[in-house]
Amino acid sequence: MRLSQACNVPAISTGDIFRSNVENGTELGQKVAVFMNAGKYVPDSLTNDLVRSRLNEPGVEGGFLLDGYPRTEAQVAELDDILAGTGHSLDVVVLLVADSDEIVKRLSKRALEQGRSDDTEEVIRHRLEVYAEQTAPLIEIYSERGLVVEVDGLGAVDEVTRRITDALDARGITLLAG
Ligand code: AMP
Repeated sequence: MRLSQACNVPAISTGDIFRSNVENGTELGQKVAVFMNAGKYVPDSLTNDLVRSRLNEPGVEGGFLLDGYPRTEAQVAELDDILAGTGHSLDVVVLLVADSDEIVKRLSKRALEQGRSDDTEEVIRHRLEVYAEQTAPLIEIYSERGLVVEVDGLGAVDEVTRRITDALDARGITLLAG
């Protein structure tokens, strides 16, 4: 959120959109809840349809920040296709690096604060396995395209935000002052 404000572009977080659908009991929410609660990825077809329609809505012409998408190779292919259609291209892929034990600790804390049912220790560990299997390979795909910027993801929110904005600035990505 801070980052999208700094870049003055909308943030599109698939996780947030899924969560709000679950909370509002929509048809999509009913379909995705079972996957989310088990720490599994929502099927690519549902996730891709969601992002495709969001990126075709007004408001993204000046850019956007994707948070939590793409997470699978099929999503990378879909995103390429969506962007080819809208005439956009990716400027950068930010890779936040953090130690697994630290991630479990932080997410468990967040679960207590926000009451997220997908943040029990068991589910978090499973999410990390799914990440290693399905999402980690994307680092190579985007590295080969020269898009990856690696940032230390541990530290206070302000600190990590600053590291990311500095890295974006260094790549010539326009940021608001401050
Ligand atoms: P997040 O808030 O990004 O951690 O996402 C929470 C949950 O939403 C994930 O554990 C998945 O169940 C689901 N989700 C979010 N983004 C995706 C995605 N790109 N592909 C599949 N599932 C997703």
